[in-house]
Amino acid sequence: MENMFPAFFTESINRQYGMETVAQILSGMQQPRCTSLRANPLRASIDDIAAMLTEARLAYERLPWYDAAFLLPAGSEAVLHSQPLYESGGFYMQSLSAMLPPLVLAPQSGADILDMAAAPGGKTAQMAAMTANKANITAVEVNAIRADRLRHNLQKQGVTRVNVMVRDGRKLEDFFRFDQILLDAPCSGSGTMLASDPTGIRAFSEKLVRNSAALQVQLLRKALSLLKKGGTLVYSTCSILEVENEAVVRSALKGTSAQLEPIELPGIEDLPRLPVMLDDTLCVRPTERYEGFFIARIRKP
Ligand code: SAM
Repeated sequence: MENMFPAFFTESINRQYGMETVAQILSGMQQPRCTSLRANPLRASIDDIAAMLTEARLAYERLPWYDAAFLLPAGSEAVLHSQPLYESGGFYMQSLSAMLPPLVLAPQSGADILDMAAAPGGKTAQMAAMTANKANITAVEVNAIRADRLRHNLQKQGVTRVNVMVRDGRKLEDFFRFDQILLDAPCSGSGTMLASDPTGIRAFSEKLVRNSAALQVQLLRKALSLLKKGGTLVYSTCSILEVENEAVVRSALKGTSAQLEPIELPGIEDLPRLPVMLDDTLCVRPTERYEGFFIARIRKP
């Protein structure tokens, strides 16, 4: 199979997964990826979205693990972007894998929730929708321009009760305490690379992996310190490399009483998975439907 991915990437996955799994990963990255969207109940019903897709003659599939998820053929973006319901925030373009971390966190109404690396806000808005705007969400983003985009997306999707803070998550004040935390960490994006997207491939580098891993450990340690006793944290990346995933979790949990919890979600057994190096974590294998993604659910006793 022709391989146009950076040598550092293929060497890393060869070491981590072995030849057979690597062939599956590379095959998943060669295919055009399906389009997917998340219906936003704050602006439209699931029936409204289904009717819109039928009207636009877009074939779709529903997923067993999430009512709001719709899977469409690759290349459906242009038609979707021209729909009035897109402009009014009735749905949001989000990869299937990116819908998983909020589902695994299971945000609760009335809870104080931190979204520690939030822009452009797909998961912030999803958590607000899952709680019908009844959680108190703090959305932190270090990049001011991306924070503007986050505010715009939240407003468009009818999200209220979110406090956007332009801040380095590592420098959040120590007096904050949260019931639930999502750390959807900045990463190398190794799980999202596609053979058809040279820009994405060029953005990946060994240095980016190294820098991301160092930042991820710092962010996760800080997140754990801000989590209330009895609280839950979800750490996720769109990378499939151990150094940004299992190794980060292992390192941040060292010397703390926090523990990994099994990830349970009805229908989740349908996901394509990669072997993991840390029990109870989940790594989604890149396929034509899914981006590569890593998720860990952590509880502070
Ligand atoms: N959760 C987002 C979503 O679902 O739309 C995607 C988050 S993206 C993977 C990571 C984000 O973290 C980027 O917007 C990046 O600018 C931001 N970031 C990077 N370093 C950060 C830091 N030290 N503190 C807070 N945010 C940071």
